[in-house]
Amino acid sequence: EQTETITYDMLDTLAKKSYPLCMRHLHEQMTKQHHLKHLGRLQYRLFLKGIGLSLDECLKFFRNEFVSNGSMNPTQFEREHVYNIRHAYGQEGKHTSYTPYSCVKIIQDPPPGVNEYHGCPYRHWDPNTLKQRLSTNYGIHDEQVLNEIVDRSQNHHYQIACQIYFEYQHNVKNHGIGINHPNQYFNESRKILTG
Ligand code: SF4
Repeated sequence: EQTETITYDMLDTLAKKSYPLCMRHLHEQMTKQHHLKHLGRLQYRLFLKGIGLSLDECLKFFRNEFVSNGSMNPTQFEREHVYNIRHAYGQEGKHTSYTPYSCVKIIQDPPPGVNEYHGCPYRHWDPNTLKQRLSTNYGIHDEQVLNEIVDRSQNHHYQIACQIYFEYQHNVKNHGIGINHPNQYFNESRKILTG
């Protein structure tokens, strides 16, 4: 059950505290480059819908990044992006409410190419990159935990690697949740952090 009202200016903080790595990476790249390629946009905006970001706030977020901070002109944004965002929210076309992607889908979908940031880091990043980013950018300073995450990823246990990261980040041991969905990760995190 959704208890927090989430606005787009909260996303930077939420990304740091409560996003799984797949979504945190997309958020960081989007706010850094002020753009995101097609598959990344699909993966991220459905996640945003899933965490309870309203359609209006989602439009504000994309418009702010692509147009205000980025170089896209407003007309192009309206033409190329507004419909698709509304569509993801079930407000256009067949009014289907699209389901945010599960871990299995993200893990099995086509891997990210050059300048693409979708996918699952435990699946799609090479072990050195994963280890280096976890320690430099994502605050894992325990060598044993780092090695465990990389080993699990190497052995194709991506969701277990994600769970180890979750437990470390939230300072809970043997929390017992199996991670199977980025939105489930987020919800569990909010439960722990907001009580
Ligand atoms: Fe995202 Fe799932 Fe991969 Fe975790 S295991 S990073 S939630 S796709």
